[in-house]
Formats: sequence, C-alpha cells, structure tokens
Amino acid sequence: MYKKAMNSYQMEQIHALEMIRRHSEKMKRPETFREVKARGFDLESQLAGYLAFREEISRFFARWFEDICTANCYTSGVSACCSKDGIIVFWADMAINAFFSGPAEPEQLERAIRSPASDAKCIYLIPGGCAWRIKPIVCEMFLCPDAENAVFAKHPEAESAWLDIKERKKVFTWPDRPVLFEMLESIFIEDGCDSSLMHVHKSPGLQRLIRNRA
Ligand code: SF4
Repeated sequence: MYKKAMNSYQMEQIHALEMIRRHSEKMKRPETFREVKARGFDLESQLAGYLAFREEISRFFARWFEDICTANCYTSGVSACCSKDGIIVFWADMAINAFFSGPAEPEQLERAIRSPASDAKCIYLIPGGCAWRIKPIVCEMFLCPDAENAVFAKHPEAESAWLDIKERKKVFTWPDRPVLFEMLESIFIEDGCDSSLMHVHKSPGLQRLIRNRA
C-alpha cells in the first residue's frame, strides 16, 4: 500500500519519541533521582506534583467545561483544538508521558505519528481520541474564547480558579527558577540527546530567563 512520506512536523515528533524510548530507562533509575536531588531538585516530588496538578485541571474541565465543549465541538465534530501540526509539544511532555505509560502507549504514539488517522487534524488524534496518556500541556490548557466567555460570564469563580491554574502551571514550566520541564530536558541532554522539542534549552526567551535567575 502507498504510504505518504512524513512531513517535518512528523519527523521531529518521531525523532524525539524514538530518543525518549531509547533513553527513558535512565529517567526511571533511582540513581538519576539521587543525582538530581543532590543538585537540589526533587524530581520524584516534582513528577508527583505535576501529576496531581494535571488531575486538578481535569477536574476543573469536567466541572466547568465538559458540557459546553461536548455540545459545541465534539458532538458537532467541529473541534478546533486538535488542529493539524499546530501543537507545540515540549520534550518534557513526551518524557512525562513515557514515564507514566506502559509499553503500549509509546507504540500507539508512534503509529499515530507515522500514519495519522486524518490529514486535516492533529496527528495524535486517533479514532479512540487523543493517543497520549498525559497529553501535552498546551492541549490541556486550551480553552477556546467562545467557551471561556460563556462560562466565565456566568461563573466568575471559575475564572478565578482558571487564572490560579495558569499561574501554578509556571511552577513546572516557566524557568525563572529550576523547573520540571527544564530538568527533564537536562537529564536527557546529559545522556547525549538533542531535539527541537527541547524548547526550554532552545528558545532564546526562555534561555534569557534562565540566565537572569538571581
Ligand atoms: S495531542 Fe491530543 S489533545 Fe492535543 S491536539 Fe493532538 S489529539 Fe488533540
């Protein structure tokens, strides 16, 4: 059967996934946790804290947005969030997904990247939904303006909770201090990995933040 060549987005995703699969054992080893802790970063509690944070966001969405998103997007099939090649995946997204996944999930991601179910939607959107166990943070935090306006106009308490969630996301992702997303890149870089998904180490803006730390 004719198989389409992968585009540059698919190539960078598969490249990162393959590297993470090859090196992910290092991330799970107790020595890695000990080494990182000796540098003052508690990887174990950061991962646990991140997972708890993600569960909290899921509960927030279930409480405030599930009904409106189901009615406006999923039922009608017009969902705008899973757009083609538009998702900025961080290296840490893939590393965290691998860390909390069994062997089946990375294979599912690989199949999705190599043979997307749709030419018009995100490559990770498979017939059963999103192929990730813990989807990228940009997807988790996506709210379309229509849904946001509809819910927040009626429920200011939901808007306050959302602003609080957005602020607390920075504890894991915004490197004005040592953060999980940076450390997960560093661990793999020290193991010889390099990827365009290592945005914390590749973005000039984020690198400036790191240099300006007190
Ligand atoms: S990664 Fe998953 S949630 Fe994010 S856009 Fe793709 S299918 Fe949608």
